[in-house]
Amino acid sequence: MSERIRILRGDITQQKVDAIVNAANTSLLGGGGVDGAIHSAAGPELLEYCKTLGGCLTGHAKITPGFRLKAKYIIHTVGPVWRGGNYNEDELLANCYKNSIRLAVKNKLKSIAFPAISTGVYGFPLERASGIALNTAMEFLNVDESFEKIVFVCFDDRAFNIYNQTLKEITEINKTDNS
Ligand code: ADP
Repeated sequence: MSERIRILRGDITQQKVDAIVNAANTSLLGGGGVDGAIHSAAGPELLEYCKTLGGCLTGHAKITPGFRLKAKYIIHTVGPVWRGGNYNEDELLANCYKNSIRLAVKNKLKSIAFPAISTGVYGFPLERASGIALNTAMEFLNVDESFEKIVFVCFDDRAFNIYNQTLKEITEINKTDNS
């Protein structure tokens, strides 16, 4: 299981996977943070393509070519803005991971890389977001044995450490549950 989940410290635009995921906004017309980095690395063709998509709802996902990226596709998903935790933020964030993975499977892709969706400008607490990201990924990999790899790309040491700690905790809970 955990061999198919990887936690890396780095820049998602450099990942050699079938699809990288963009933490976009509902317009899909670009923004700051990871969205800006992906648009700059993919090239201006990405924006032209995105203009034809009609935006994207929070928790949903849309796919585009990767253009100049090493990844063949980009899956754009819109994370929830953190408003204190009582506005369905957890479920909406889980939907981002589920719908992105669903689109990858539908397009016969085998590897995907995620940034820490919603944890930048959208303010979702990183510990909580990492638990949702990792649990959703593990639940999917438990039922799909052919999917090769889900990579979590952490942009800084803090995110990297939190993801690793969360994965350790989840793995220990699962061990206890199964014993
Ligand atoms: P959101 O609006 O969904 O919060 P942000 O782009 O502001 O999106 O941040 C999401 C996460 O992506 C943050 O944890 C940020 O550190 C991270 N990030 C920013 N640039 C990159 C990059 N090039 N590769 C991977 N992660 C990145």
